[in-house]
Amino acid sequence: MIVIRTISELRNALVNRKQELQASGTTSEIGFVPTMGFLHDGHASLMNRAKSECEIVVLSVFVNPLQFGPNEDFERYPRDEARDSALAEACGVDFLFMPAVHEMYPQPSKSNVSVSKITERLCGASRPGHFDGVCTVVSKLFQIVDPNRAYFGLKDAQQVAVIQQMVNDLNMRVQIVPCPTIREEDGLAKSSRNVYLQKEERKQALVLSRVLSEVDRWLNDSPHDVQAVHQRIVNTILQQPLADIDYVEIVHYPSLEPIQTYRPEIGALTLVALAVRFGGTRLIDNRLLEYTEKGE
Ligand code: AMP
Repeated sequence: MIVIRTISELRNALVNRKQELQASGTTSEIGFVPTMGFLHDGHASLMNRAKSECEIVVLSVFVNPLQFGPNEDFERYPRDEARDSALAEACGVDFLFMPAVHEMYPQPSKSNVSVSKITERLCGASRPGHFDGVCTVVSKLFQIVDPNRAYFGLKDAQQVAVIQQMVNDLNMRVQIVPCPTIREEDGLAKSSRNVYLQKEERKQALVLSRVLSEVDRWLNDSPHDVQAVHQRIVNTILQQPLADIDYVEIVHYPSLEPIQTYRPEIGALTLVALAVRFGGTRLIDNRLLEYTEKGE
């Protein structure tokens, strides 16, 4: 694995590697996994998937200041380059791109990539500007890496919908590959931010995965009263004294439009998305439900 910190070096390395592979008669597709580092098994699942589908795997580790609000955790976001390098290498990453902030933003950017509508709800509503920051940095990274496929976790389901919309709207050539959420054994969705949780906060945070594991049953029991299911989720979460709800949403996916009834059409996807603070830590989790004829 080669660690690279500048855009020009990464571009050159990728051209060379592609030429080598082409000369030996193999295909040379690039799989790309963009992350903010402090890697865990969720990230590893994306790298493994990329490795199984592409000849060249590029991982980026970049804590992108543009996607953090002024009172958010940019400064204290956990970082561990040595550990990240070891995990990336173990997953078979070929190029680990770890640029400094001034490499990505040598001067304040006057250009911005912005997706409308689906960024106004859920995390977009509580984190103004967040998705502009995400779309801008992901576009830049796509320009730099020029991947055939890019791997994103459904843990951030709205992010997947937004990136897919951007790729469609702007005719980007990359294929977006959504990957399932990886969880701790007790159900907590893996996240770099889990290290912020105190013991009791972490215990109470299990309510999120617990609610999501039951919500399909609740929706099937009252498909015409989505509002009642919403209230049931809120009540269950608030039984945990440390829980402070940012949002609970039951929406169509990927439009993120609210739904009134849970059986709109066969094949329709419903997203149940949660954002809840425990202590100072904001956690998100979700479940994507596909309606089948039997309602299963
Ligand atoms: P982050 O480093 O948090 O920006 O995440 C980088 C990528 O890893 C994003 O596509 C996330 O959706 C994905 N990811 C984060 N946590 C998980 C998880 N628990 N399971 C699967 N993918 C994840």
